[in-house]
Amino acid sequence: MRIFSGIQPTGRKHLGNFIGAIEPYVHHQEQGEAIYCVVDLHATTVPYDPATLRERVYDTAAILLAAGLDPDRCIFFRQGDVPEHTEMTWLLSSVTAFGDLNRMHQFKDKAGAQRDLVSSSLFTYPVLMAADVLVYRAHRVPVGDDQRQHIELMRDIAERFNARFGVGGSGSGDDAPLVVPEGVYREVGARIMDLQEPTRKMSTTGGTEQGTVLVLDEPKTIEKKFKRAVTDSGSEIRHDRDEKPGVSNLIEIYAAVKGVAFDAVEREFADARYGDFKGAVAEAVVERLAPVQERFAELRPDEAALEEILAAGAAKARALAAPTVALARELMGVGPVG
Ligand code: ATP
Ligand code: MG
Repeated sequence: MRIFSGIQPTGRKHLGNFIGAIEPYVHHQEQGEAIYCVVDLHATTVPYDPATLRERVYDTAAILLAAGLDPDRCIFFRQGDVPEHTEMTWLLSSVTAFGDLNRMHQFKDKAGAQRDLVSSSLFTYPVLMAADVLVYRAHRVPVGDDQRQHIELMRDIAERFNARFGVGGSGSGDDAPLVVPEGVYREVGARIMDLQEPTRKMSTTGGTEQGTVLVLDEPKTIEKKFKRAVTDSGSEIRHDRDEKPGVSNLIEIYAAVKGVAFDAVEREFADARYGDFKGAVAEAVVERLAPVQERFAELRPDEAALEEILAAGAAKARALAAPTVALARELMGVGPVG
């Protein structure tokens, strides 16, 4: 069982990333062979500053390590250090339908928010994401709910590649050149919403500032953001995403952070007022993030040590990725016979 996932070094990571992705990463490194990367190449698809990008890679790497990723128990690296990802992207592009890319919600959302150039890499982002996973022949991909469409596309790409280039044209099965991976979504917390606009996902690039709780926010800031969180009419603390999106989001955050079920949260706060409940959620989040922040402060300043971890991870990653690229080239008739 091989697990792969990637996280963007855009901005500082938020509570949605933490609950929806980072915690599952830590959990999954115990479940199988886990490969994680900071996807700096994905971050170049929207306007960015090169020097800041490097800093953000260190921020993101230090957050993941602080949260419990262990380079001895997983492979942890920076995407741009492994050129096999980009070569695989080009090869896979030949079995990726333009029409499929054209239907991707993330492209529409992000392109719509762009004031200047909409890059072609923003459009082909899902092919790079497919390459990230397929080049390792990974079986499972822990991601947030917003990535379902991209996961479906990468499965289609793998199947189409296998059908087109696999020996005997079988679309899947153990002897197929590419593994058709499965998305793994956390039961509670796969979609944390913006505290100010609880019908939109919490996001690095698209959310509101007050509605986005950062992993590195000061306790006071976290308390303030929760205090100002939008709730719904009525006073009942009940989980109902359609009728009560604000309160439901707070229930999900509390449930995920405390590791309890929705109905346990509803019972615990049956007689509480919204204000008290928000205070309790803030406190739980502050408590959960405190040790991560502490460890981050120790790890982040030593960029040489972070580079060493990422470089060692990249060497291991390349050893796994290179044979898949070699096989794909051979099957596609690219280069001399291997
Ligand atoms: P951007 O808005 O720029 O795409 P992001 O906030 O989605 O940034 P990513 O680095 O793209 O951050 O996502 C990293 C992981 O976090 C992905 O698996 C993604 O599905 C997950 N994730 C992102 N937002 C949320 C959220 N609000 N709730 C749960 N998981 C999330
Ligand atoms: Mg994203």
